[in-house]
Amino acid sequence: MHHHLEELFDRLNQRFFDGLMGRPQLGWSRGTSRSMLGHFDPSHNAIIISRIFDRPEVPALALEYVMFHEMLHLRYPVDHAGSRRRVHTKEFRQAERGFPRLKEAKELLKKL
Ligand SMILES: [Zn+2]
Repeated sequence: MHHHLEELFDRLNQRFFDGLMGRPQLGWSRGTSRSMLGHFDPSHNAIIISRIFDRPEVPALALEYVMFHEMLHLRYPVDHAGSRRRVHTKEFRQAERGFPRLKEAKELLKKL
């Protein structure tokens, strides 16, 4: 294992959430999915990260961004109001823009 998910979670928690976020279960996906890079499963309170990131050549920024994104799913639950189910709410998007080097991180994900 090249990246330590617990350490990463704790680091981002301190940096962006004042260390207040309870740590969910963290795990690597079985396969190296490109279509699902990360996933928050509320029923198991688990963040699953694609094993595609578990390689030494993957830039830390790319993995940090994916973990940050999934942490925002913990922080901003799915909005079930109205007929549409909104996964990435306005508040979610706004918080995501607080991630430094967001554009650079997204570019890195395209090159995985
Ligand atoms: Zn998302």
